Amino acid sequence: MSERCAERVWDGWHQHRCTRKGTVQEDGKGWCKQHAPALAKAKREERDRKWQEKWDRQDKERAEAKAADAEVQRRADCYDDLLAALERILGPSREALEVIKALDRGEGVTGYNAKDLANAITDVETAIAKAKERA
Ligand SMILES: [Zn+2]
Repeated sequence: MSERCAERVWDGWHQHRCTRKGTVQEDGKGWCKQHAPALAKAKREERDRKWQEKWDRQDKERAEAKAADAEVQRRADCYDDLLAALERILGPSREALEVIKALDRGEGVTGYNAKDLANAITDVETAIAKAKERA
């Protein structure tokens, strides 16, 4: 078959027939591989599927980041209670109490997040270990 592709294409100024050969028969017309309706539809669906995958991935990443932020906030919200509990538990240890009081004054705590809290716990544990060595 030597007929041209049936697609009308837009060159920016004019519409004209696609110049490629109509090698694919569909709906009683010849189409090039780019414009054959079934092939174009499959290509479009594949492209849509990839976009959907990207959007789904972004939604998942946003949800994970939001959950991580919520966890940091949850830990920050119990910071005061944790300090108070540690103070009760470590009451007899003078050095640990000093560390706790320093942390409570904000010394050694540069921000109000989970990493600082973890560092604070490490400081308290170190103080406990030192107190135990002396006992
Ligand atoms: Zn064409």
